[in-house]
Amino acid sequence: MDCLFCKIVKKEIPAKIVFESDSVLAFNDINPQAPTHILIIPKKHIKSTNEIDDINLAGELIITAKNLAKNLGFDTNGYRLNINCGQDGGQEVGHLHLHLLAGRQMNWPPG
Ligand code: 5GP
Ligand code: ZN
Repeated sequence: MDCLFCKIVKKEIPAKIVFESDSVLAFNDINPQAPTHILIIPKKHIKSTNEIDDINLAGELIITAKNLAKNLGFDTNGYRLNINCGQDGGQEVGHLHLHLLAGRQMNWPPG
């Protein structure tokens, strides 16, 4: 399967990895939309939130994001966690990923 993020998991494409466990990988976004912009992904190929049914894995994605935010000192001022799903959701890479955005004031509503 020709999946960009699977290639990052397999270290076939370089990325600035900031956290790795048996089931989750986190790395810096190549086109950051905030001073800190990290993508947290399952190592297993899951296309989008439509396809995730593993509660433990879903939880690990969020807990990983929380731990990274806390370790980077963003727990006080806050941060944003975002998952895009499908075309209307603005998902461009078809491998589930959670965006951790931090280091600036976020706007609402999102575009
Ligand atoms: P989406 O729009 O699918 O929610 O987000 C995809 C994200 O992946 C974008 O923020 C984009 O900048 C990031 N991205 C796309 N290609 C690469 C890449 O090759 N390496 C890294 N680190 N991030 C990428
Ligand atoms: Zn994949």
